[in-house]
Amino acid sequence: MSTYVTSFMRIVGVVVAVLVGGINVASSQVVIRNSEEPTLYAYCQQFQTLYTRIREQTITPDSARRQFSTIMLGLQARFQSQASPPNDSLQRDSLRRTGQYFVFPIRGYTPRSIGGSHGEGYRGRGFDLFDHTVQGSHPAQDIFISDRNQDYIDDRSGQPVDILAMSSGLVLGIETGWLPGSEYRGGNWIWVYDPRLNGLFYYAHNSSVSVSPGQWVQAGEKLAEMGRTGYNAYKTRSPTHLHLMYLQIKPNGLPEPVNTYPWLLSARLSK
Ligand SMILES: [Zn+2]
Repeated sequence: MSTYVTSFMRIVGVVVAVLVGGINVASSQVVIRNSEEPTLYAYCQQFQTLYTRIREQTITPDSARRQFSTIMLGLQARFQSQASPPNDSLQRDSLRRTGQYFVFPIRGYTPRSIGGSHGEGYRGRGFDLFDHTVQGSHPAQDIFISDRNQDYIDDRSGQPVDILAMSSGLVLGIETGWLPGSEYRGGNWIWVYDPRLNGLFYYAHNSSVSVSPGQWVQAGEKLAEMGRTGYNAYKTRSPTHLHLMYLQIKPNGLPEPVNTYPWLLSARLSK
């Protein structure tokens, strides 16, 4: 059994390394799976169900915390490999310091579009992913586009604005059904799990979402088009923007927000 699991991990590791490296897996290669392990898609379904229950407050924050931790530790184990141990914080930090690791998440825009003059829109204190009744924090960066008439078409190009993946990862969950009048603040959102950083990116307020749960996306790949979905984002007083959050998964499987401002400053730009 344990030999089986070990060899399974090695195979998953190789596949991840290949995916992260951006090389196509030859179609003749077959990934052998331990049938007792949930598939990656099953993790996506669990995540999506849990996140919906948290939002609808049909689960207590304590049970939500336990379930989240189980899902994230399971996912982390699925992606674990000898080559890049996800718990190696030194390696993770050096990756994050490398500007080339990240792609700026809005095509045609630069760090000048980040809200505030030095990224002070980030307020991590008091954030609780599992209790949506707790408000007041903003563990995220808002990045704005030129859209004076609020039709979420870029005033300069006359085109919709692409939201891009900041790093490569697995699309864990999406929302596509937000309607005006809904009190949900994220609107149409996307969660992407980056196994190299062992963290989650959250992209909110999109108009249309271009990816599906279980899909692997490369850094810089289009995820969505920017929109004004979400309870507050839809209001006239809110300029059109992307709400970008990153949650680092701690060794206990629970999330901790990290300010993405320095990563955004050094990220590669896409025209
Ligand atoms: Zn925001």
